[in-house]
Amino acid sequence: MLTFPFTEADPIQYPGPPPKTSQVVIVGGGIIGVTTALFLASRNIPVTLLEKGRVAAEQSSRNWGWIRKQGRDADELPIVIEASRLWRQLADECGEDIGLNQTGVTYLANSDKDMAKFEEFMKIAAIHELDTRLLDADETAKLISGMSRRFKGAMTTPSDMRAEPWLAVPALARLAVRKGARIVENCAARALEISAGRVKGVWTEAGYIETSSVLVAGGAWSSLFLRRHGVAIPQLSVRVTVAATEPMPEVYSGAAADDHIAFRRRQDGGYTLAAGGSHLLYLGPDAFRHATQYLPALRDNPFGTRYFPFAPSGYPDGWSTPRDWAPDSASPFEKMRVLNPAPEPAGLRSVEHNFKRLFPQFESVRLKAGWGGMIDAMPDVVPVVDQVRAVGGLFVATGMSGHGFGIGPGIGRVVSDMIQGNETGHDLSRFRLSRFYDGSPVRLGPAL
Ligand SMILES: Cc1cc2nc3c(=O)[nH]c(=O)nc-3n(C[C@H](O)[C@H](O)[C@H](O)COP(=O)(O)OP(=O)(O)OC[C@H]3O[C@@H](n4cnc5c(N)ncnc54)[C@H](O)[C@@H]3O)c2cc1C
Repeated sequence: MLTFPFTEADPIQYPGPPPKTSQVVIVGGGIIGVTTALFLASRNIPVTLLEKGRVAAEQSSRNWGWIRKQGRDADELPIVIEASRLWRQLADECGEDIGLNQTGVTYLANSDKDMAKFEEFMKIAAIHELDTRLLDADETAKLISGMSRRFKGAMTTPSDMRAEPWLAVPALARLAVRKGARIVENCAARALEISAGRVKGVWTEAGYIETSSVLVAGGAWSSLFLRRHGVAIPQLSVRVTVAATEPMPEVYSGAAADDHIAFRRRQDGGYTLAAGGSHLLYLGPDAFRHATQYLPALRDNPFGTRYFPFAPSGYPDGWSTPRDWAPDSASPFEKMRVLNPAPEPAGLRSVEHNFKRLFPQFESVRLKAGWGGMIDAMPDVVPVVDQVRAVGGLFVATGMSGHGFGIGPGIGRVVSDMIQGNETGHDLSRFRLSRFYDGSPVRLGPAL
């Protein structure tokens, strides 16, 4: 019986109340918050992680489970290379099967234009000595068996991995707790207490925590949380639909995609399916506020985004979602414990159709599950990982833009060092918050 995705019907694993003081408080129990807590606790730093719903119930259990270096933004690549090493180490340390497998990631080319794009990435891959290779049509057909059509070719990285997100992130949370982190579920952070330009504490729905350092790793909710404190992040979120087939014969042990279909072998013998580059943006006040910053992404892929005029009530960018509230009254965060959008029925039909068109021999294979997820995105498709200059002790790691699962442990390690005031070992200037306000042009990272 599969248990994904998580919802608020799942039992609370980490009840409150939260402690009265904690050296570090983390807002958000996705892969970023959990791995940051883990690395801080490994250094014996007292850390409390607040999760308004359940650990990993939003993006971090709903994702495709790809852990890839392939196709990454050049500035993310050193961090994701570190993350790949950390995934192996943490999988060993947590002593649970998280479905981590080195089975490769492959992008399929429909045209010479696709192959030309792959060649661009090969230059970056060469700098980092990745095992990424280009395949011709015959090699592609050999790698993924039984495809009904021939592709121009492919780009593949055999050392890329997969894991089961709904197993991995909860297992990492258990490891963090074993190392000394405190996790409190069903506990929304409502607001920060800031005095003389420094963080002094966090107001939660279950009381006040005195602290000197706060990390906001709230996924799709980060901008709503921070805006109230004068920190503006041009973050939006888009809805995507995912499906899982029942177990079926193996066509490829890794993860692959073209423009129409993305598929990834799961540990249970089924495939996780999704549409390559299609998503739905619910329009709300932030979508209009940040529209100009998203124009380059829109021009790059004009048909990738569909629009719905009303962000649903209670969503981070809902028209009726409050933008301000008192710390002693209910906030939008506890009003929606788990952002759990329904999958689009047409989206489920379309991924099933596209998968079976590619593998017609599996016409009788059924979908066993379908779910939706809200991906938090930034205008340039790379995250914000930074310290907020105007508020001492405030850190942000958010906007992972659809690829934060694979890089998660790398970001967690980096942010834990940033909070401790240590060298992070990576050039993080690409991920600075000020890039949206210092006149820098939007430099688009790769979309997939
Ligand atoms: C369908 C889908 C497919 C994807 N596929 C991949 C993939 O194959 N590979 C990959 O690398 N990435 C993938 N991603 C992206 C990846 O899942 C995300 O980038 C990553 O999980 C983000 O982690 P996070 O910790 O930043 O946010 P989240 O996982 O969204 O966690 C944020 C948490 O913060 C909590 N929170 C928010 N506000 C508050 C508050 N005020 N108080 C307390 N708690 C709060 C939320 O409840 C939530 O649990 C995919 C995403 C989706 C949705």
